[in-house]
Amino acid sequence: MIYNIAGLLTGNLGDSQQHEIENESLRISGHSIKKINGQVRLMRTDRTVLVNAEIEAETHDSCSRCLEPATVNVFVNMEEEFTPLNADLVDGPNNRTDDDYYDSALIIDEQNFLDLTEGLGQAILGALPIAPLCKDDCLGICPTCTVNRNIIQCSCAKSSFDLRWAGLAKLMEKGAESAD
Ligand SMILES: [Zn+2]
Ligand SMILES: [Zn+2]
Repeated sequence: MIYNIAGLLTGNLGDSQQHEIENESLRISGHSIKKINGQVRLMRTDRTVLVNAEIEAETHDSCSRCLEPATVNVFVNMEEEFTPLNADLVDGPNNRTDDDYYDSALIIDEQNFLDLTEGLGQAILGALPIAPLCKDDCLGICPTCTVNRNIIQCSCAKSSFDLRWAGLAKLMEKGAESAD
């Protein structure tokens, strides 16, 4: 996912390139992102290159309910501006002040290579679910006997329900006694 965009930078405003991303992978913050597929469009603006990437990808995590491995599918539509370090090609970066902030993930290096890996990785990280699931209807772990309820059907839910009713019945009994 590294593109040489010298041609784009020396071209006209609004020039664009399109690239296919096929079965790429990357690692970011301990996450291994695989099967990255989609399209990336690069467009020259006056001082930057506007990158639009529409991709889908896959990663693996633990299910937030049952803790078993879960395959997580993620869809990302990223739009970011990359700034060229090569001041010969575009007017702008030479004039930047110390106040300007440049995200190191969104830089086009001096050899005019635009590396999408980190920027896209950050976008994918942001799109990962906070509570991944192994399947939409995962039943999770029983809080009482800790079995995986996708595999074993325990009877805890029913008995804890009964216990609560028993407790309530006792309270009502007490209430009835004190009322006497
Ligand atoms: Zn699960
Ligand atoms: Zn149980």
